[in-house]
Amino acid sequence: MSVYLDNNATTPVDPAALKAMLPYFTEHFHNPSGAYAASKTAAAAVGKARGQVAQLLHCKPSEVVFTSGGTESDITAIDSALNCYRAKNHVVTCSTEHPAVLEPLATRSRFGVEVTTVGVTPGGQIDLDQLRAAVRPGKTALVSVMWANNETGVINPVHEIAEIAASAGAFFHSDAVQAVGKIPTNLPASGIHYASVSAHKLHGPKGIGALFVSEKARFFPALEGGGQESGRRSGTENVPGIVGLGTAAAIAFQHLQDHPTDPVATLRDHLVSSLQTNLTGVHLNGDPAHITPNTASVRFDGCDAAGLLLLLDRAGVACSAGSACHTGSAKPSGILTAMGIPAAGARTTLRLSLSRFTTAADIDLAITAITSSVEKMRSLRPSS
Ligand code: PLP
Repeated sequence: MSVYLDNNATTPVDPAALKAMLPYFTEHFHNPSGAYAASKTAAAAVGKARGQVAQLLHCKPSEVVFTSGGTESDITAIDSALNCYRAKNHVVTCSTEHPAVLEPLATRSRFGVEVTTVGVTPGGQIDLDQLRAAVRPGKTALVSVMWANNETGVINPVHEIAEIAASAGAFFHSDAVQAVGKIPTNLPASGIHYASVSAHKLHGPKGIGALFVSEKARFFPALEGGGQESGRRSGTENVPGIVGLGTAAAIAFQHLQDHPTDPVATLRDHLVSSLQTNLTGVHLNGDPAHITPNTASVRFDGCDAAGLLLLLDRAGVACSAGSACHTGSAKPSGILTAMGIPAAGARTTLRLSLSRFTTAADIDLAITAITSSVEKMRSLRPSS
């Protein structure tokens, strides 16, 4: 039996989402732009999915643009703001953002865009005083700060960030990839202008996502051509992917409605507290009052996370050290070091991320495997 605790990297597709997708590969394969009746079926499916995503985001269907995923949504939002405000060339972001935001900004900084990177508190939330000092009225085109962090699950105070961005007349983009489907995300009430969504983080398929574009925001398309998505994102629609995202969004919406207290958080808390009971030197990274229900970023004193991952893999537990893209890299996680965790501590961190498919039996198995692997690693230390 194996246990999957790497749901922040990707999630299994919900069987209902897969079932909904399948006919759009075969009998309903048609291009939604066609003039014949069969195309209307595909176009209607895209329309239905847009409504389902809008319901999860509490926004209008016209504010949802389908993209290829979180990365495309992030870059589209950044370039949209910069292109709409040609006279403003300053962007403010945060040190714990995903590379899908930090890397495009680094590239644009080589072509004249000025980027200010704001730090975080020890709990992992953006430092609001630093953010207030960083925005420049009349100069800042965009504030780009994620809703929830991929490694720690730390949730940022989006309403306060929105107020600060608005005070400078800047657009606010939030990478909401790790928040949507896990916590309530009322986009219009949040003050966010652009928000990125990725289907494969909420039990939908890979290679499909969405960008929320507030009706209050201006928009400049990243992909021009055939004029799909009302001219906002060209390219023939990925109809099966869109149907999968829509179905996954509808299921996530229902889950949030049915569970004001998420049972996933109960399992996650049991995992962390059991590890802290079984072992000494186990610390949760990030402020526990502001963490997504499914995530635990945990330091195990004296245990190199890379070695721990190998032992856990052999024991049938899949998780990651920092984010998936950092696994295998000797560099400590920039997210954890930005929170003031020393490099040595960051290197002892495992990211354990659950989903609504994680069972109590999975967690019991993980507690046993992690406890014995940490004990084994500590017993092998030269000092012991
Ligand atoms: N933003 C965050 C916070 C993520 O966790 C990820 C995926 O790891 C992405 C963006 C990229 O999303 P996608 O894989 O859909 O391009």
